[in-house]
Amino acid sequence: MKNIDTESRNPATGDVIGYSPKNSVADLKEAIRKARTAQEAWAALPVKERTRALSGIRSHLMENAEKIAALISAENGKTRIDALATEVLPAVMAFDYYASHAKRFLKPALLPPGSLLLANKWSRIFRVPYGVIGIISPWNYPFAIPFSEVVMGLVSGNAVILKTATSTQLTGRQIEAGVRAAGLPEGLFSFINIAGDTAGDAFIECGIDKLFFTGSTQVGKKLMAKAAETLTPLNLELGGNDAMLVCEDADLERASSGAVWAGLENCGQNCAGVERIYVHQSVYGPFLERLKAKVEAFRVGQDRDYNVDMGAMTTKSQTAKVRDHLEDALKKGAAIVAQSHCPPPESRGNFLPATVIASVNHDMLVMREETFGPVLAVMKVRDMEEAISLANDSMYGLTGSVWSRNAGRAEQIARRIRAGVITINDHLMSHGMAETPWGGFKASGIGRTHGKIGLLEMTQPQVVVHDLLGFARKNLWWHPYNEALYRGLLGAMRLFYGPKLRFRLPGIWPLLKILPRIFRAG
Ligand code: NAD
Repeated sequence: MKNIDTESRNPATGDVIGYSPKNSVADLKEAIRKARTAQEAWAALPVKERTRALSGIRSHLMENAEKIAALISAENGKTRIDALATEVLPAVMAFDYYASHAKRFLKPALLPPGSLLLANKWSRIFRVPYGVIGIISPWNYPFAIPFSEVVMGLVSGNAVILKTATSTQLTGRQIEAGVRAAGLPEGLFSFINIAGDTAGDAFIECGIDKLFFTGSTQVGKKLMAKAAETLTPLNLELGGNDAMLVCEDADLERASSGAVWAGLENCGQNCAGVERIYVHQSVYGPFLERLKAKVEAFRVGQDRDYNVDMGAMTTKSQTAKVRDHLEDALKKGAAIVAQSHCPPPESRGNFLPATVIASVNHDMLVMREETFGPVLAVMKVRDMEEAISLANDSMYGLTGSVWSRNAGRAEQIARRIRAGVITINDHLMSHGMAETPWGGFKASGIGRTHGKIGLLEMTQPQVVVHDLLGFARKNLWWHPYNEALYRGLLGAMRLFYGPKLRFRLPGIWPLLKILPRIFRAG
């Protein structure tokens, strides 16, 4: 390995799979300088032309879909089915969504007057790109997360500097390859490989116009403190400890399969994966039985022929954290009720078994913090009131789910969960729906990504106000001031906003008296 490269290893085998050249903070500074130059001309293009110019990214993705899915699997450890279903496929869906809708979302909006008093004022809101935006992304969805943000950033007229996680550099480089294949203007996009602990300060000190960060709450807090120095706007997509609420009338077959997928997909390394399951006491036993059977049948290992349900954990440090959380729970009284088989330690891979624990309580790390691993903690609740209150007993509020055959009641319960996204009879998958905004309450983040709201976060509103009476010499309330003006304005207020006719009518005369002043000079 050259010491100027970052090494990538396959977490299922420990083998080196490639290198990514490192950059310096000086490179970042230079990239921002070039980006600023390129961005001006890019932002001046109509959205339709920008979309056309970006279409090469989509072609690259379609032509290399299998290669990209295999690379994600080799570098992150997830199965190729996970890589295809939750990263590559959602990426093309997102591309097409923004390509079809960006023009409409970014269109200037006409604002008619909000008051009769100012009926001559008509405004328009324009969406202005920030300029050069920075995107810092994590290793758990090394392709889908940065891909959609890069597309949203570019289509809305920004230049983009992307930094992906150190352990999944090669996957990040596939986004760079797609952008290169599209032949975008020189400097409009740069991929920068700098270490996480220098990245935050560097992006902000080098003058990025807005930073889109997806990662841990801990780093999000550091970035916010740093951004305060320059008032750099931030979008923070942070951690979660999601609750799944199983009602007494839930379809237990679907609910248990849903818990398995949304809790164990990507080895449970999901900001919005199922971590805590609250089950109504009347169905607790049968739900747990089904969950136990499914988890015990789970196949864990390296994805050689697609016939594996869960791959390897991405990093050794995350593997150790999951073990610590499990140990903490067992020490405090939890019991393992089901566990899958797991490749033996000699396999050299970062494997963990899928595990279901019960007899849990809110003193345990698994219930209070983000475990981010293949552990499902199940708790029996008296009723759904208790489930809601336990679900909300968390510093996080990213997503949650309610499982019930009664859609109306499920929605009422959903609305009481303090989280950014709640799915009914499903969990986690709405990250793959380009139209649904994504983001959390509380310590799970600030701002939204995806959908119209997410796209608009790439821009700031600029209001232009027109005056239909622009030919008048002055506005009614301009200088010189005198008592007649005061009485006239008071009359206007009474006339337009007074409660009763007898209160409003006396306002007419003082107002009429001052109206001619708008045509008077001086
Ligand atoms: P992390 O915070 O350690 O790192 C995320 C990214 O930030 C990486 O690129 C890393 O190199 C970089 N980084 C690290 N320290 C930094 C610093 N001081 N300044 C700037 N950048 C820095 O998180 P992770 O371990 O890579 O990812 C897992 C976390 O991400 C989990 O908490 C998970 O919930 C969260 N996540 C959230 C979402 C979401 O949509 N809300 C999605 C995926 C992951």
